Amino acid sequence: MAGTTWVFAEIVDGKPVAVTLELLTKARSLGGTVEAVAFSPVAEAAAATLGEYGATTVYAGTDPAYAELLLGGPAADALAKLAQEHSPDLILIGATYTGRDVAGRLAALIDAPVIANGLDVAANGDITVQSAIFGATQVVQTKFDSSGPKVALIRAKSFAAEPGGGGAPKLVKIDAPIDEKHRAAKMVESKADTATGPKLEEAAVVISGGRGLQDPKNFDLLHQVADLVHGAVGASRAVVDAGWVPYAMQVGQTGKTVKPTVYIACGISGAMQHTVGMKGSKNIVAINKDADAPIFKLADLGIVGDTLKILPQLIDELKARKG
Ligand SMILES: Cc1cc2nc3c(=O)[nH]c(=O)nc-3n(C[C@H](O)[C@H](O)[C@H](O)COP(=O)(O)OP(=O)(O)OC[C@H]3O[C@@H](n4cnc5c(N)ncnc54)[C@H](O)[C@@H]3O)c2cc1C
Repeated sequence: MAGTTWVFAEIVDGKPVAVTLELLTKARSLGGTVEAVAFSPVAEAAAATLGEYGATTVYAGTDPAYAELLLGGPAADALAKLAQEHSPDLILIGATYTGRDVAGRLAALIDAPVIANGLDVAANGDITVQSAIFGATQVVQTKFDSSGPKVALIRAKSFAAEPGGGGAPKLVKIDAPIDEKHRAAKMVESKADTATGPKLEEAAVVISGGRGLQDPKNFDLLHQVADLVHGAVGASRAVVDAGWVPYAMQVGQTGKTVKPTVYIACGISGAMQHTVGMKGSKNIVAINKDADAPIFKLADLGIVGDTLKILPQLIDELKARKG
C-alpha cells in the first residue's frame, strides 16, 4: 500500500497525455489514495478524465500563462509548495520532456530523492522502482530509503492505461503566482507531427528497421508493409544516428517505448538498448540473416534470412490477401 500517490498530470491539446493515464492506472493498483496535480488553463475540464482513471482529487493550476510558458519551472515551484503542505508518499511523473524538467526541479526544491528511467513501481511496505541503468544493460530494483515524498520518473508505455470507473474527482484550485524568472522564455510556435497513419507509440503493428536494411531507401519496404496493415514504422538507433530516418522513429532506451500487438524487427541485432523499448510487445517477429542474433532470444517468431528478400514477399502476400 502506497499511502498517498500523486500523479503529475500533463495536459496537451486539452486532454491528459497517455502516460498520465498509464500512471494513474498504476497508482490505483498500489492501493491507498490517488490524486492528480495538473497545470493548464483547461486543467479543470480535464479533471473528469483524471477521475475516470483513478484520481479522487485533482489539484488544478489554471493560470492562462501555463499555455505559453515552459511548464517545468512554474509547475515544479507550485508542486513543491503543494507537496510540502500535503506530504504525499509518492509522486509519479511521466518521463516526457516536461516531466523530466519538473522532476529534477521538484526533487531539488523539496530535497526529495528521484529515481529516473523507471519501468515499474511497487509498494509492499517499501516503495521500490524498477529502472534501467548503465545504458539499459541492467535492470535494477531500487528502494526509497527516506521519509517525505519520493519522486519517480516513469517511462511511457510501462503500464497499460485502463479506466477504473471512478466518478468526478474533488477539484482543488491551486493558487500559485508564477515567479517572474519563469516568464523569460515563451513558446512561440508549436508544430503538430504531420505523419500519416497511426503514431508509433499507439500503432497495433510496428515494423522497425536497422542497419541490416543496408540502405535508407529500403525503408520504403517497411512503409509499404505499414500502409498495408495500418501500422507504424520504427528504427534502431544505428540508422537514426546514420541519418537514414528521423529521431522520432527511434525505438529503445533513448527513443520511444512501444507495446504493439505485433512488432516486426528487420535487420536489427537486438541490443539491450533497443529491446528495452519493444520487449513489452505482445508478439515479436524478427528477420535477421544471422541465426545467432540476440533478437531471436526475444522473438516469438524468428525468420533467418535476408530481410530485403523476405519483405517484398510479405508485401506481395499482404496485397494478395487484401485483394
Ligand atoms: C547509451 C546508449 C543508448 C542507446 N539507445 C538506443 C536506442 O534507444 N535504440 C536503439 O536501437 N539502440 C540504442 N543504442 C545502440 C545499441 O547499442 C545498438 O548499437 C543498436 O541498437 C544497433 O542497431 P542495429 O541493430 O540496427 O545495428 P547492428 O547492431 O549493426 O545490427 C544489424 C543487424 O542486421 C543484420 N543484418 C544485416 N544484413 C541483413 C539482411 N540483409 N537481412 C537481415 N538481417 C541483416 C545483422 O545480422 C545484424 O544483426 C544505444 C546505445 C547506447 C550506448
